[in-house]
Amino acid sequence: MLMQHIHACRFVYNHSLEQKIRAYEQHKQKLSCFDLNKQLPALKKEYPWLAEVNSQSLQSANKNLDNAFTRFFREKKGFPKFKSRKNPVQSFQVPQHYRVDFDRERIRLPKIGEIKIVFHRHFDGKMKTATVSVTSTGKWFVSILVDDGKPTPNPVRFTSDTTIGIDVGLTDFATFSDGEKIANPRCLKNSLQRLKVLQRRVSRKVKGSKNRKKAIKKLARCHEKIANQRNDFLHKLSFRVVSENQAIAVESLNIVGMQKNHRLAQSISDVSWGSFFSMLEYKCERYGKTLLEIGQFEPSSKICSRCGYINRNLTLSDREWTCPDCDTHHDRDINAAMNIKKFALQDQNLIGISGAERAVEPVDLSQ
Ligand SMILES: [Zn+2]
Repeated sequence: MLMQHIHACRFVYNHSLEQKIRAYEQHKQKLSCFDLNKQLPALKKEYPWLAEVNSQSLQSANKNLDNAFTRFFREKKGFPKFKSRKNPVQSFQVPQHYRVDFDRERIRLPKIGEIKIVFHRHFDGKMKTATVSVTSTGKWFVSILVDDGKPTPNPVRFTSDTTIGIDVGLTDFATFSDGEKIANPRCLKNSLQRLKVLQRRVSRKVKGSKNRKKAIKKLARCHEKIANQRNDFLHKLSFRVVSENQAIAVESLNIVGMQKNHRLAQSISDVSWGSFFSMLEYKCERYGKTLLEIGQFEPSSKICSRCGYINRNLTLSDREWTCPDCDTHHDRDINAAMNIKKFALQDQNLIGISGAERAVEPVDLSQ
């Protein structure tokens, strides 16, 4: 029944996306979430198995699609994609009418019934949408959005001393402007080796065979392990950075450049940086810290962070260099992190702090 909900919601999402594209191409008409929900009863007549699932879950699928379009128009994020049954994580939402029983460790979902669950924690507050998901290894999760009624804290003041710049790279996972380097976790490297072996094994097995299915399952488990190790590392690191600083400066990621690279290690890093930044973003908000994001500017590692000299001869293989102008010896990544911090603080001009003072004067964001 859970799986049926997942299939049905994906089906509705894809069907609605197709409708939206067609309505726009043929009649320059924009279908709203409301229009799409109105089509649901007819759709259920055409595909009776849809009627067996919670109709609010189907409406949520339409709402998610609507949100995807809003993000596309407002934030210029990618055009909404069709959902594949091959996605590693599949999910559906239950917006209301579910019940959680902490004592008996159960959750009751409409149309599905009672399910035994293990709680990661207890919570108080108003329960909002519940999202049920399944991983490719068949583990089921439900995450419940809870409004605890507590307001988000106002951002705390920050100065140059309490701001850190972060440069992400392939050699090290991250380099801080205070000189600290964070290596990629070793366990991740070992798992990547194992992943390569398992991938090769899958490709050697005959398509449709039992052995291939087994190999695919092993591969999925390895993928999941990597994702868990990576998330654990990213959560700990982002929490530490947010706890230790009042403001964090990062350089926005070059998404286009990333998509061109298909190497495995690279793609894993790409995913990591993206989730690292979004963890920083929501943790900053939660703890009243400020995330400063600067646009990508080509020479972040080529500019001397001390005097501003641009070293145009610097190549990718140069890990260290000495500024010919002020004689400062630079580590490439630390210098880049210092520049990111410097440029982010300069950007704070926008809120009325004049040039020379900006690095020393506290910035009050509550104004
Ligand atoms: Zn210099």
